[in-house]
Amino acid sequence: MSDRSLYDRYMAAARAHREHAATCAVCTGDRRCPAGKRLFRLFSALQDAYLHRRRG
Ligand SMILES: [Zn+2]
Repeated sequence: MSDRSLYDRYMAAARAHREHAATCAVCTGDRRCPAGKRLFRLFSALQDAYLHRRRG
């Protein structure tokens, strides 16, 4: 996997999570619905992978 596609996946996950949180009645601050949790976990995992790769 190239850095570019990892970055794209990271950005797509960030956008998906942000868009979900903006329209979801349950997701606020530190509280998340199951779908929001899934989106946040994916975003968080990709963010870690991306930031770690940049650092390393
Ligand atoms: Zn939600």
